[in-house]
Amino acid sequence: MKRYSKQREIILDTLRKRNDHPTAEMLYKDILNIMPSIGIATVYRNLSALSDSGQILKIETKQGESDRFDGNINPHLHFQCLECNKIEDIFLNEDQVKELTEKLNEFADVINAETVTSKILIKGRCSECKDKIKL
Ligand SMILES: [Zn+2]
Ligand SMILES: [Zn+2]
Repeated sequence: MKRYSKQREIILDTLRKRNDHPTAEMLYKDILNIMPSIGIATVYRNLSALSDSGQILKIETKQGESDRFDGNINPHLHFQCLECNKIEDIFLNEDQVKELTEKLNEFADVINAETVTSKILIKGRCSECKDKIKL
C-alpha cells in the first residue's frame, strides 16, 4: 500500500511540474527517470484515480487521441490548436469566472437545469499557427 501511494505522489509531482498538458505516455517517460521499475499501466491507473478524485484534470481531446492531463486545478479554460495540437491555458479573473458561470447557468436554464462544473475546450489555431497560415 505504501509503494502504491509513493507512486501516486511521484506521478502527481511530475504532472504538476509540467504546464504543457502531457499525455500519459509523455508523463511515463519523465517518471521512468525517477522510478525505472514503473509500468505504463500503473501510470494510467493512477492518473485516472487522481482525476476521479479531482486532484488533477483530464482533458478529453479528439476522438482516437490520448487524453491529456493537467496538474493545475484552478479554474481555467483550455485552448487546443487544431494544427499543432498544443493545449494552452486561459486563466480568468474572478469577474470573468462570475460572468462565465452566469452565462452557463443561463444556457442550462433553457432546459431547466443548473450548472455544477464545466470543462471548456476551445479549439482553433494558436498564435504561431495562425500566422503560418496567413503567409
Ligand atoms: Zn498551433
Ligand atoms: Zn490547463
